[in-house]
Amino acid sequence: MTRSLRIGKIAGIDLKVHWTFSLLIFGVFGYYLLSGNTVSESLFGLGLILSVFVCVVLHEFGHALTARHYAVATRDITLYPIGGVARLQQIPEEPRKEFWISVAGPAVNVVIAGILFLGITFLGSFPTIVEMMEPAGHFAAKLMWFNIVLVGFNMLPAFPMDGGRVLRAILAMRTDYMKATQVAAAIGQGMAILFGFLGIVTFNPILLFIALFVYVGAQQEARMTMIRIAVEGVPVRQAMVTRFETLRSSSTVSDAVEKLLAGSQQEFPVVDEGQLAGLLTRKTLVQALSENDLDTRVSKIMQQSCAVVQETEMLEDVFRQMQEEKCSALPVMSGDTLVGILTLENVGELMMINSAMTTSKARGELEDLITS
Ligand SMILES: [Zn+2]
Repeated sequence: MTRSLRIGKIAGIDLKVHWTFSLLIFGVFGYYLLSGNTVSESLFGLGLILSVFVCVVLHEFGHALTARHYAVATRDITLYPIGGVARLQQIPEEPRKEFWISVAGPAVNVVIAGILFLGITFLGSFPTIVEMMEPAGHFAAKLMWFNIVLVGFNMLPAFPMDGGRVLRAILAMRTDYMKATQVAAAIGQGMAILFGFLGIVTFNPILLFIALFVYVGAQQEARMTMIRIAVEGVPVRQAMVTRFETLRSSSTVSDAVEKLLAGSQQEFPVVDEGQLAGLLTRKTLVQALSENDLDTRVSKIMQQSCAVVQETEMLEDVFRQMQEEKCSALPVMSGDTLVGILTLENVGELMMINSAMTTSKARGELEDLITS
């Protein structure tokens, strides 16, 4: 998201263009020219593609403004050569809301195609297929066609495309959210494999790329949902590690390595006189080992940027925070006292236990066991 240029603000939402988008502009223009078209024909082609992207922006605003209707903010909308992305603050778990937010994007393209259809019907005439193949001319008809393709493509029932979300929302109205996600993700991955196969058979790299995009997207979506559901309503206290070793600011890398090798602990809170000073993660330790000598003080390499959390905070909020700030571990406090550490691994373990407890009865028993 970093290499994007902000080109404006519409309805309070930043509109950005990723740098690779410029490659598309040159690419399209160059492709037209090299295919033996005149400069004006090439400019026509470029204008058409840019108009398609205006429709893509309107599509994303369809998502963003519907999300706003449900009090979900949009961080920004970014254009990539393969399409647009509206980054919503969160995706509502209420199926009805997810359904309408997802449907709103393609619905915008349906409306655009409909308007173009009426315009062409009353003001002009539809070109034949041969005329449509010509490099220039029939702008409205071509734009209409692109909008229809956009609807068809986005409504494929595959995560992370809109159709995948619509499918999940419809399933979630009938079964539980987790199962709905798993089924939708499995269908998405099935479709990705199909795309991949078609891509190989037809030597189509774009199709292969889409296949990969969908496959990874489906997997991520399913995983994130599983984690979110597993940690729902669970306080940090339940997932943190309470038996742990600490280091001092004055400890050396060699002390830290000794502790790392002695047990299964990977992240070490750095504590001086009962006060938390920072956190040393395995990653930074290994990095320090390759760069510095063993006598380097822990205070020089420890992380101080990651927040501390209170044991009563909810895991779902903390987990989101960990991901956003890219912190693999957080010190957990009870008031001013360090009482535990929370790592992504703990969250993963909790998730595994929760998914093993298939019935809610068993889950309830586990909760009783943990809280008693
Ligand atoms: Zn969309």
